[in-house]
Amino acid sequence: MSRNVVRGKTIADWQEQVPLLKDIQATKEVFWINPNKENFQTASEKATFSKKDVDEADARLARFAAYLAAEFPETRPTNGIIESPITEISNMKTYLEETYHETIKGNLWLKRDDLLPIAGTIKARGAIYEVLKHAEDLALEHGLLTSIEENYAVFASEKFRAFFSNYKITVSTTGNLGISVGVVGAKLGFEVIVHMSVEAKQWKKDYLRSQGVVVIEHASDFTKAVTKGRQESDLDPMSYFVDDEHSEDLFLGYTVAANRLKGQLKEKNILVDADHPLFVYLPCGIGGSPGGITFGLKQIYGDNVHCFFAEPTHVPSMLVGLLTGEYDGVTVKDFGLDGLTVADGLAVPRTSGFVAKVLEDFFSGSYTIDDHQTYELLSTLIDQEEIYLEPAALAGVPGSVRLFQSAAGKKYLQDHHLADKMDQATHIAWATGGSMVPKEDMDLFYQQGQKTEKVV
Ligand SMILES: *Cc1c(COP(=O)(O)O)cnc(C)c1O
Repeated sequence: MSRNVVRGKTIADWQEQVPLLKDIQATKEVFWINPNKENFQTASEKATFSKKDVDEADARLARFAAYLAAEFPETRPTNGIIESPITEISNMKTYLEETYHETIKGNLWLKRDDLLPIAGTIKARGAIYEVLKHAEDLALEHGLLTSIEENYAVFASEKFRAFFSNYKITVSTTGNLGISVGVVGAKLGFEVIVHMSVEAKQWKKDYLRSQGVVVIEHASDFTKAVTKGRQESDLDPMSYFVDDEHSEDLFLGYTVAANRLKGQLKEKNILVDADHPLFVYLPCGIGGSPGGITFGLKQIYGDNVHCFFAEPTHVPSMLVGLLTGEYDGVTVKDFGLDGLTVADGLAVPRTSGFVAKVLEDFFSGSYTIDDHQTYELLSTLIDQEEIYLEPAALAGVPGSVRLFQSAAGKKYLQDHHLADKMDQATHIAWATGGSMVPKEDMDLFYQQGQKTEKVV
């Protein structure tokens, strides 16, 4: 295929069909409303998943709580449930308002997945769920477990570990997925093989090796590391591949976050209904985590929750997949973008086709964020709130400002009759990771952020 032809069309043809592509190719920050979003009723009828799937995943994690509490002491305060708190960030809100000369109507909260136990990133939701489900499937299939009513603390026994040591789990990753799969997989007794793409940070490789995980390094981007990992795993009948691009289990693991958030909002007396809309801003890589969480939230709040995805200007893979209507048939590199970003957790050049297709009916829109902005927000959040996030996790933070400030965002509020309800709105920026970043790396991010000029 010639460089200038993508899926049978020249770049000029694509730009004519999708004018926003020009700005995207110029790595400008954009804010886009998803024209294909359906109302919740219609979207649900079309969807291949339902609330029942979310609740089944929730119940499975509850079954494993006794095991997790036994093996991972950091989950004991939450009785073996992997969950993070929500924090109001009013200093940051004031800072954003002053810097961007824009009032953020409503309250601004941060969902602290940087504090998730076991792995300290949002991947702990989906990846640990998938590994646990695989272990449960094997245990049931081979009669180690006779029923799902048993006490799952037995998964910590020598007998179970010896059994799982006959099996392998393989995963390809930019880093964080490997950490979640690796730590829990190795603890259960599996041999875990992690294929790392070129973006993966050295400390993540070192950390995994220290946990007894086999790390294979690739000098290529994420897409190629996935192909390699999948091929090698497929050749080995004892190996199970955690497939970031196609895994429904990973997706369903993420959805459970919504049930938990519902409880937290209730506890804080935060109302969500037609007069009190909820806006959630989720960093998006391949799409599984923002997609799963959005799907779960929609099952609870229906049309009263509005979910926006945030991607780096150099790697807007979901945006490019949806704008072109080609989903996983295109990569950002097809459109001349280099795919490079400081937000390594989001450095995925091609979106997940299945997530993009399901979520197209549910999510409200997306925007892109420049790396300079990411650095600047990273150091500001430390100064204003003493919260230390990894770069990818900052992407959701400016979402509310962008909604109020952009023409597309304003139009969205008007079209949905929300403009006069925004004083009662709740905004949640989903902070997807941070607590595992070594201090030296965080210091460098902070210094970089302090040097960065404000991009207003
Ligand atoms: C993976 C990741 C995301 C995005 O999740 P996807 O499922 O790839 O869309 C966001 N933030 C961090 C820190 C991540 O590791």
